[in-house]
Amino acid sequence: MSDEETQGEAPVVTYEVRGSVAVVTLNRPEYTNAQNSKMTYALDAAFVRAVNDDAVKAIVLAGAGKHFSGGHDIGTPGRDIDESFDRKAVIHWDHVGTEGVESRFARESEVYLGMCRRWAEIPKPMIAMVQGACIAGGLMLAWSCDFIIASDDAFFADPVVRMGIPGVEYFAHPWVMNPRAAKEFLYTADRFPAQRAKELGMVNHVVPREELEDFTFAMADRIAAMPRLGLALTKKAVNQAEDLMGLRAGMDSVFGLHHAAHAHNAEVGRDSLAGLDSRAMAKAGKQAAAQAAGKDTVSPA
Ligand code: ZN
Repeated sequence: MSDEETQGEAPVVTYEVRGSVAVVTLNRPEYTNAQNSKMTYALDAAFVRAVNDDAVKAIVLAGAGKHFSGGHDIGTPGRDIDESFDRKAVIHWDHVGTEGVESRFARESEVYLGMCRRWAEIPKPMIAMVQGACIAGGLMLAWSCDFIIASDDAFFADPVVRMGIPGVEYFAHPWVMNPRAAKEFLYTADRFPAQRAKELGMVNHVVPREELEDFTFAMADRIAAMPRLGLALTKKAVNQAEDLMGLRAGMDSVFGLHHAAHAHNAEVGRDSLAGLDSRAMAKAGKQAAAQAAGKDTVSPA
């Protein structure tokens, strides 16, 4: 069975069932699968479909093309932050037509923090299958899954400190790695290769790119053979343990800091992202990577 979750002309998310496993695929490869709201709601619809399908026992979240996800859409032609959608994650009024913190807080509560929490609680196991870039908002998608299987060319980064913002909205950093690694990850905006992410406990397995799919689906099939209720209760048990380790309360408090940063940017500068769009962020990232690799030829005289 194969189908596409489409809204408008572009199939921004595809849905497929292979045996007992649903494959939900981010499908904006021409924009490194940048996540706009259209994609958010298409993802949500695909996950709901997988939950409601009794034949589906596990879910794989994948990204089409070279990269898993370059993050939230902060600059493609399909950016849709001023559009209204039928809200699902939180009970809140629409951000459209409001201003300032009221607008940003409503929107990000729904499409970022709220949605990721909603997905993290999906009662079927979810595996993120990650290749290439998994940056900022891409981390939120991968972290909402139960665990990550990465190819050896995958890398992870959260560069939003460049915007003066303390990490992405779903602030799981100190829980998915450790606090000191999280600080380095955020302070430097460095790309952590898959192997390093595995050593820090953020990634479960690293496999050659050409084996990523086979490895992931073999594991998903083994998980799918377990009893459905047992898996659902186990997921809840571990999620509750993470919350007891402070995940939920920590995220709530950091969400406030995140919005203080957005507000500061908007108050003193051009916009809530410190004037940095996707192009500017990519350029800054490349310069920093070159500097880290010792290839920085632009040095003071
Ligand atoms: Zn934000």
